[in-house]
Amino acid sequence: MTFRDKNAGALVLFSGGQDSTTCLAWALENFVHVETVGFDYGQRHRVELSCRTALRSGLAGLSSRWRERLGPDHTLSIEALGAISDTALTREAAIALGDDGLPNTFVPGRNLLFLAFAAALAYRRGVVDLVGGMCETDFSGYPDCRHDTIMSMARTLSLGVDRPFFIHTPLMFIDKAATWALAQELGGAALVRLIVEDTHTCYLGERGQRHDWGYGCGACPACELRARGWEKFVTEAGTEAGMSPDKG
Ligand code: ZN
Repeated sequence: MTFRDKNAGALVLFSGGQDSTTCLAWALENFVHVETVGFDYGQRHRVELSCRTALRSGLAGLSSRWRERLGPDHTLSIEALGAISDTALTREAAIALGDDGLPNTFVPGRNLLFLAFAAALAYRRGVVDLVGGMCETDFSGYPDCRHDTIMSMARTLSLGVDRPFFIHTPLMFIDKAATWALAQELGGAALVRLIVEDTHTCYLGERGQRHDWGYGCGACPACELRARGWEKFVTEAGTEAGMSPDKG
């Protein structure tokens, strides 16, 4: 990847989950100024939003360079997204596969809306690099996570504000195990530990039970994906320091 300007800033779409936290670490490694944005749209797993502050301080504590680079956090409320979505993410319903072959956790066009809001904010902040955790490798079939969708969106945003926008998706072509491995590469066992302890993935917002891979119900599609990726990562990496399940 080439960067237009080593001194450029970036805005990371930061939900407080495993993927966006790994992306935030990636951005802190690659940009000299990094801001974060989170979206409140009435999601059932809103608990993820409260993880964000702890994760930001955790990341700042891992490296003095990252601490210097980490800029302000922004939270945008998009209540309308909850109102127009009839999905298992925004109301009390069982998570299941819909008639269209997509799980009913799919909020139509969610990433497009997030990116449009992020771009508007980035424009005001003088930033043209957006970073997001979209991934088409072992995704749940969400069409707005695909590389083609994201590239098309970058083009649309650039045209819409007459300024080049770049959307970086470091996880696009890697699976969950490789996402854990990327965290290990960026911040070592300490970053892996931070992600296990403080990120939130579970669609149901469960944080009661601590598994090897972190907190969650252990049964919803998001938990299953995270657990599977962890198992593969640990198997491939071996049980090195910090990845031991019995870590306090
Ligand atoms: Zn879960």
